[in-house]
Amino acid sequence: MSPADLSPGFAAGEMDAAPLLRVRGLQKSFGSNRVLESVDLTVGRGRVLALIGPSGSGKTTILRCLNGLELPDGGTIDVAVASASDRGPGGSAAGRGERSAAPLTIDFAAKTSPKELASLRDRSAMVFQHYNLFPHKTVLQNVIEGPVIVQRRPAAEVTAEALALLDRVGLTDKRDSYPFELSGGQQQRVGIVRALALRPQVLLFDEPTSALDPELVGDVLRLIKELADEGWTMVIVTHELEFAREVAHEIAFVDGGTIVEHGDPRQLLRNPQHERTRQFLHRLL
Ligand code: ADP
Repeated sequence: MSPADLSPGFAAGEMDAAPLLRVRGLQKSFGSNRVLESVDLTVGRGRVLALIGPSGSGKTTILRCLNGLELPDGGTIDVAVASASDRGPGGSAAGRGERSAAPLTIDFAAKTSPKELASLRDRSAMVFQHYNLFPHKTVLQNVIEGPVIVQRRPAAEVTAEALALLDRVGLTDKRDSYPFELSGGQQQRVGIVRALALRPQVLLFDEPTSALDPELVGDVLRLIKELADEGWTMVIVTHELEFAREVAHEIAFVDGGTIVEHGDPRQLLRNPQHERTRQFLHRLL
């Protein structure tokens, strides 16, 4: 069955694909600069969507809107009810309390409440291009900060989970190090662990390897692929087309603040339907 996880309309079969995230008509301007014209996308539970497109086309802004870091001017974002499988194999929806259990719909054309935005922030976690770790906090402190301070989960439970996650990515011995003592690849693995520790429903990656030295890219991409294989739902902005082809269930080509084209990664990369997509891929491949 074709997953049809991303559609500007309501594609046949989409209802069966149990979308976790649905965005309709998302708009965002910075002053007079209209950055998102109207973005529609749908990501099924446990699916990976890669966003590709030229610099300045709006990809980061889409992620930031999904994470509640930017307030859209219009459109809707729906996040389905949380289930245990949203958290990958190690996580459970239980223990999060009731906050994230219910489905969430935000209509940005209406006045959004702080509670709605907090709920949106709580459901997704971002991995940033430049890691964005707190420089004055240790690795472990970076990882537990959000779950303990923002989500108000018990420190002992969060710390145990954080240590298990650090162990998983081979950074146990760095728990008391500061970010400046780590390589870029290690910092980004901490960035990913920090996102996982928030037990989000959706992981958002903003060019996670583009600041890394080439020899450090592989480790981080392997970790992201492992998470995809474990069933995390993800939206990944990337210029790594080979990686997108391998990991993503769908690729969307973003240009001029809209999704120009989307589809199966192999098909889209081999046989793009739009001239703008062709030109973009021609420059990269
Ligand atoms: P991409 O990720 O595709 O490179 P971005 O979403 O980062 O694109 O940026 C899209 C456009 O929005 C760019 O023209 C950028 O300058 C503008 N932009 C992004 N964030 C801001 C901001 N906080 N204030 C003003 N302009 C912004």
